[in-house]
Amino acid sequence: MSACPSPAPGYRGRFAPSPTGPLHMGSLVTALASWLDARAHGGSWLVRVEDIDYPRCVRGADQQILHALARLGLHPDEPPQWQSRREALYTEALRKLETAHRIYPCGCSRKEIADSLLHARERHQTLAYPGTCRDGLHGRLPRAWRVRVPDSDDALVCFDDRWQGRQCQDLATELGDFVLRRADGLWAYQLAVVVDDGQQGITHIVRGADLLDSTPRQIYLQHLLGLPTPSYLHVPVVTNALGEKLSKQSGAQAIDELDPLAALRSAGGHLGLASAAQSVESWLGDATAGWAALLERLPAGAQRGATMA
Ligand code: GLU
Repeated sequence: MSACPSPAPGYRGRFAPSPTGPLHMGSLVTALASWLDARAHGGSWLVRVEDIDYPRCVRGADQQILHALARLGLHPDEPPQWQSRREALYTEALRKLETAHRIYPCGCSRKEIADSLLHARERHQTLAYPGTCRDGLHGRLPRAWRVRVPDSDDALVCFDDRWQGRQCQDLATELGDFVLRRADGLWAYQLAVVVDDGQQGITHIVRGADLLDSTPRQIYLQHLLGLPTPSYLHVPVVTNALGEKLSKQSGAQAIDELDPLAALRSAGGHLGLASAAQSVESWLGDATAGWAALLERLPAGAQRGATMA
C-alpha cells in the first residue's frame, strides 16, 4: 500500500477521553483513528483527559486509559492535559461571551423546560429550548448560563465531515439557546471542548459519530470566540449486539491490555483495516498506510470546511 495523504503542515490532532471507566473497544477505535490520521498526515497527536464532569469521573480511570494507550503503542507527542486544570480558560471564555452579550443566566429547572416542551409538542412545535429566560429571569434565581443562538434565518450551521459528508443543523429550531455552564456549576462539554481545541491549536478532530450533532454547536462557539474551525472526521460508533453504542453504561468491557495486538486488530477491523503484522509497531505501520488509502476513498470535496448562514 503506497497511498499517502499530503503531509499537512501544522496538523494537530487529539484524543479526548472522558475518564468514566477504562478504555473499551469503542473508545479505542476513536483513539486509533485519531492517532492514524495524525500519523498519516505527518502531524502531532495529543491526549486530553476530559474530566470536568466530576460526578461521572471514576478515580484512577485517567491513568488506566493512559497506561492502556501506551501498551497499544499510541504515544502522545506532548504531555497529556487534564481539563480539570484548565478551568480558568473556561471562565475567561464565558466572561468574553458575557461582555459581548452572547449569553444569559437561565433560571428554568429541567422540569419547567420539559413541561414547556411537552406543551410545544402538543402544538406540533419543535423541541428546542423555548427561550424562556432570554429577556430576563422573571423572578427566578439564575441556575445555568445559556448562549443565544441566532434567529432562524441565520441559524443554519453546515460542515463537511471527512467521513460522513455534508452535515447541517439549524441551531434555532433543532436546539435553541444551549447551556455553557450547568445549573450544578459544572462546565458544559460544548464550551470546554471548544476552548481547549482552540487553545491547543487543534487543526483536525477525529472522533465518534455520536458527537456529530454536537459539532454545529461547537462551530458556532468557535465563531463567537474568534477561534478557527478545525477539520472534522467522525468515525462510525461501535455498537453492541443490541445496537447500542459501546460505553460504560451499555456494559462495554475494558480492552485486554495483555494482548495489545488483538485489541488493535479488532479496533482496526471496525475501521476496515487489516494487517497480518505480528508486532504492535509493525501493525501500526501497516494500519497507517491502510488509513491513508482509506482516506482516498472518502467522499470527494469533504474537505471544504464549515459555513454559517
Ligand atoms: N470526551 C468526549 C467523550 O469521551 C469526547 C470529546 C471529543 O472528542 O470532542 O465522549
